[in-house]
Formats: sequence, structure tokens, C-alpha cells
Amino acid sequence: MAGLHKSFGDLEVLRGVDLTVEPGQVVCVIGPSGSGKSTLLRCVNRLEEPTSGEIRVEGIDILDPEIDVDRVRARIGMVFQQFNLFPHLTVLSNLTIAQRRVLGRSKRDAVEVARHNLARVGLMDKVAAYPAHLSGGQQQRVAIARALSMDPDMMLFDEPTSALDPELVGDVLDVMRDLARSGMTMMVVTHEMGFAREVGDQMIFMDDGVIVESGRPRDVLSDPRHARTRAFLSKVL
Ligand code: ATP
Ligand code: MG
Repeated sequence: MAGLHKSFGDLEVLRGVDLTVEPGQVVCVIGPSGSGKSTLLRCVNRLEEPTSGEIRVEGIDILDPEIDVDRVRARIGMVFQQFNLFPHLTVLSNLTIAQRRVLGRSKRDAVEVARHNLARVGLMDKVAAYPAHLSGGQQQRVAIARALSMDPDMMLFDEPTSALDPELVGDVLDVMRDLARSGMTMMVVTHEMGFAREVGDQMIFMDDGVIVESGRPRDVLSDPRHARTRAFLSKVL
């Protein structure tokens, strides 16, 4: 993405963001509350319309007015802090509905893909369960499996473990680590610095709508170059 700007009325939330995410890379995004992390992710899958700038995913200009937004969202999976599962649908139906409606898959194909992805996140035994009967960590793994069922080119995670009880965080991070190892391109907003250090290829520190600093996670974390990064890390580490 290049020269990305986003304003809400008078408030300029993204003030020129340039970032390249290579295929297969994991980019971890850190920064203070209100710095524009969620807005950045939301622009990448067109939940927000950037005011100006360019975003390409696998060479495709996803801001092209002609492009089908549902297709963009199918190609770029997003997982939120709140799991956003459909409460009235079983786990299986949560995973098949968009495959059928957006990708036009047959019921049989959609179910096969869903089962494959539930196995990937270790929840085959929950196919028939309703979200309310799952733990937060299980719900988040279902949300990841649902996004994966659309065969995305890229996955966006916005603080996927922040709403979880501490003992449930590890299972979700394990699934994300496996996904990264499988070669998925990922952008992850997270406070889990251990995960970022181990799994991330690139870390960006955002403040006030710009990328202040970027580099290998272990370099940014152990030897930040900018005073603003140092000040932020001293509060969270
Ligand atoms: P946090 O760590 O708290 O999640 P963030 O870095 O994700 O913060 P954003 O959610 O991107 O920050 O918000 C950046 C700024 O944009 C904030 O000042 C927020 O109030 C504002 N903002 C976000 N969405 C909207 C909106 N739909 N309308 C108006 N202002 C918004
Ligand atoms: Mg946010």
C-alpha cells in the first residue's frame, strides 16, 4: 500500500501509510490506542474506504471502484477481537454460509472445506455446536476456520486474543503460528510481543496515523530507534 490516507470528517486517522507485505510474510502491528491500527486493517479489506492512496493485494488494485467488494473480503480474511460468529447458526453453518453465498460452492464442497478447516484448528468435535456453547478461545478458532474456508490470499487479525481469558490465549496463538508456518500472508495487530518476536517477519510501530518505525520484530523490540517507540514499549513490555 502506498500513500494511504483516511479521514473521518476533520479527523485524519491515517496520514500517509506506505507498507509492503510480501507473500507469505507475517507483519505485526503495534502502537498506542487510537493510532490507526484497526483503521489500517479495515482499509485493507475494504471495511473502510480510504480517502486516498493505493492498496494492492497480489497485484490486484482492491480500491478499484469496479471491483466486487464481497470478492475482496473473501480473498482477505479478517478476524476481530470479538469473534463475530452468527449466534443462530451452528459451527458448520457458520463456516459454509459465505462459501455458498459468495463463492457459489455446492453444499457438499462447502461442508468438505469447512470440515478440513475445523480439523486444522482442532475443533472437529464441535461441528454441530452453537457459538454460545463454546469457550471464547474455541469461538475465535472457529472464526479463524471460517475465514480460512474462503481460501484467502491474506489474513488480517485485529487483537484476536485481547478478549480472551489468559489460559485460552495460547490455543489461538498456536493456530496462528501454524497458519504462519503454512505460508499464509498475515497482518496481525497484537500486544502479544512473544508471538510477534517468534512468528513475525516484520513489525511496524504506528503512532498518530503513520508508521514511525519498522523492522524485524526482535530489532524493534530490543533496540527501538525512535523515542516514541521506546516510550510505547516501556509501557507495554
Ligand atoms: P485501539 O488500540 O484502541 O484499538 P487503534 O489503533 O486500532 O486503537 P483505530 O480504531 O484505528 O485505532 O482508531 C483511530 C482513530 O480513528 C481514533 O481516534 C478513533 O476514534 C477514530 N475512528 C475510528 N473509526 C471511526 C469512525 N467510524 N468514525 C469516526 N472516527 C473513527
Ligand atoms: Mg483497534
